[in-house]
Amino acid sequence: MNPKGLSEKEVLSLLNSARLKDTSYDKVLSAMCTRPHPIAVKAHMQFIESNLGDFGLFSGTKELEEKVIRLMGSLLGCPETYGYITTGGTESNIQALRTARNIAGKKHPNVVIPASAHFSFDKTADLLGIELRKAEMDREFKVDLNSVESLIDNNTVALVGIAGSTEFGQIDPIDELAEITESHELFLHVDAAFGAFVIPFLGKKYDFDFSVDGVASITADPHKMGMSTIPAGGLLFREETCLSPLEVNTPYLTIRAQHSLAGTRSGAAAAAAYAVMMYLGREGYTKIVNRCMGLTERLVEGVRESGVQPLIDPVMNIVALEVPELDRVRKELREKGWFTSITRAPRAMRLIIMPHMSEEAIDEFVSDLGKCIKTI
Ligand SMILES: *Cc1c(COP(=O)(O)O)cnc(C)c1O
Repeated sequence: MNPKGLSEKEVLSLLNSARLKDTSYDKVLSAMCTRPHPIAVKAHMQFIESNLGDFGLFSGTKELEEKVIRLMGSLLGCPETYGYITTGGTESNIQALRTARNIAGKKHPNVVIPASAHFSFDKTADLLGIELRKAEMDREFKVDLNSVESLIDNNTVALVGIAGSTEFGQIDPIDELAEITESHELFLHVDAAFGAFVIPFLGKKYDFDFSVDGVASITADPHKMGMSTIPAGGLLFREETCLSPLEVNTPYLTIRAQHSLAGTRSGAAAAAAYAVMMYLGREGYTKIVNRCMGLTERLVEGVRESGVQPLIDPVMNIVALEVPELDRVRKELREKGWFTSITRAPRAMRLIIMPHMSEEAIDEFVSDLGKCIKTI
């Protein structure tokens, strides 16, 4: 650190040169985050000093957090839900399975998750000392129920279903998973980190949320398709008692106890999530999702003309494309400015068509992909 501080101008210029090295979202087809909605940015700035880790001092922000949890609950089939705004899907998944583990109280707990699950479950398992059992996927990349059943034993404490898988954008049969959890008296967690702000706004209806009896908890990220600022994740429980296993006493705060994993945590993110949900309403989110789905269809139709097929017809705004010479094609696309990603098994080109995409960008991508493939 310098002995003396710099001028504001000097600091801002340092910031600007760093910012210039960041990627603008224009050609990013690999990210699940996007430019936050302007109303979320305003709210975030207004609540920038608010700390929900000690919410006795920030009772206004705390009210917003309670409201936003109810907004998400009503979106996900149960307005009377209990939870909090986390730092993201990872913290939500950790906390949901921590609750499940603590309720069950088994010596050697295991959790059955789909092979398509997000890598946050690997972190979760390591932290919580639980064994992960990965169930196979069927041909449509949904979790295979027979495989799930075969992995359950006396030490299983929870099943996880994914509503909007990170790689394929697929929705597991949550109602059928719920039947399995009910018959084995297990906890059912639904990871809808990405899907929670997509699936309710699709033309087709899916049973994936608290409307399914037996779903105990849901992960839902405002900082992905919720258009909010980072870091805003959501953890929702159907029962208030599910928060108790997470509680620790906080003797030197204005509050008695805390159930978040983070101590000090952003009130700005909760305010931003509240603001954008109130501003957009169901109508606003439906428009955003419709637009992303329209762009997704446009992309799929376009690449089909070059002989490229999606692994499944897109369920949401995530597509996995079977591309020949995947590594070379991705490298050439990268040279043209495009950020793409991959799925693990089978290996395919993974694209997420977020709200920052435009028709022009999609057409340009389709044309560039066509050119890269033709040079084979
Ligand atoms: C993105 C994602 C996560 C992780 O969320 P973070 O906010 O990055 O921690 C977990 N599960 C699914 C299905 C996701 O898509």
